[in-house]
Amino acid sequence: MTLVVVGASLAGLRAVEAARRTGYRGRIVLIGAEEHLPYDRPPLSKAFLADGGPRTVEPFHTEEVLREVLGVELLLGAPADGLDIGSREVTVAGTAVRYDALVIATGATARTLPGARALRTAEDAVAVRDALDRGARTVVIGAGFIGSEVASAARARGLPVTIVEAAVVPLARAVGETAGAALAGLHHEAGTELRLGTEVTGVTADGVHLAGGEVLPADLVVAGIGAVPATGWLEGSGLVLHERDRGVVCDATLSSGAPGVYAAGDVAHVASSLFGGLLRLEHWTNAAEQGAAAARHALDPAAARPLETVPYFWSDWYGHRIQFVGTPDADEVVTAGDTTLYRRGDRLVGALTVDRPREIMKHRRRIADRAHWADALAFAGTT
Ligand code: FAD
Repeated sequence: MTLVVVGASLAGLRAVEAARRTGYRGRIVLIGAEEHLPYDRPPLSKAFLADGGPRTVEPFHTEEVLREVLGVELLLGAPADGLDIGSREVTVAGTAVRYDALVIATGATARTLPGARALRTAEDAVAVRDALDRGARTVVIGAGFIGSEVASAARARGLPVTIVEAAVVPLARAVGETAGAALAGLHHEAGTELRLGTEVTGVTADGVHLAGGEVLPADLVVAGIGAVPATGWLEGSGLVLHERDRGVVCDATLSSGAPGVYAAGDVAHVASSLFGGLLRLEHWTNAAEQGAAAARHALDPAAARPLETVPYFWSDWYGHRIQFVGTPDADEVVTAGDTTLYRRGDRLVGALTVDRPREIMKHRRRIADRAHWADALAFAGTT
């Protein structure tokens, strides 16, 4: 029996660990496009950018632990370039690797803009940190979470930073308009200039060119404009890829429908029994939970059960912890102090808090329990 995991990051690593935890003693091959051992991404836009922060990106495990303790054959710096679901083979630079069970965990690749730098990999983080060390005037394109964390790191060093955002409310898709507008206040308080409803037409050595003709001078330009599933290698494989962004479409057990093939993490569109429809999340907890489940299900499909976890993410800006659970896709949004609740029908479906770490996990449980809206409001003290 061979378990092949493609993608050597969070979801892929959790797949390997879960396989061994179930008592699986067969072969495991972990294939990764990056040269690095699996490492954690959230610190790249937080502690790693801080003045006096860590100078190197540490892996989750040493190579010795991966090879000797977890018994993994590592193929790093080696992107998979094809999948044959009939003969059950992944190809890597022309060489076929046969699998009985396959976990696809190739994540997502940052969208880029010529002249700007994305922040997705260890190399990106080193480049951004080096520029901040040199005292860069920074322009961030896109007021998403990663861009906001870069701005926060720049302000913590007392450096000037501007965020340019095409939408009139930041984070509208991620947390809804009400909460997005409230979070914009954190930028203002910290002295980050926020240019909303502003289109970027290009980036040159002079800086960032705006639609009205203005040029914002910049030494560092970071594009935080989203990411797309890394599935180029799956085109033509017969797997169902999402029509919009080509992520791998899965049922609620993470099965792609092809025998033995499961997907997890940022790459996967997963049927949600809790909210209906497909959900593709770019959240740490989701990748970790799905990676583990995908390996268990791939190794024992008969025991596969729908995953019913409630989406969760956090982000740290200017010393504040922002946390979100559930979905922002709601009929009504109610804000009280540092808590925002989201209603769909008569149910609580989402919650956002600022600096309330204990409260957010209670909301997560209520959403999983399909809590009634009136009860959720009473708990949050908003009635
Ligand atoms: P990825 O981490 O994208 O890993 C996929 C791996 O597969 C990559 O190493 C890639 O090189 C490799 N790969 C791609 N194609 C191939 C191929 N053909 N063959 C082999 N390998 C391939 N989430 C939060 O909830 N909170 C946070 O605060 C937060 N902060 C973040 C900060 C940053 C800077 C970034 C980039 C992300 C952050 N996230 C955060 C999101 C979180 O890190 C991701 O959801 C998580 O990393 C997804 O894990 P993954 O394994 O699915 O995919």
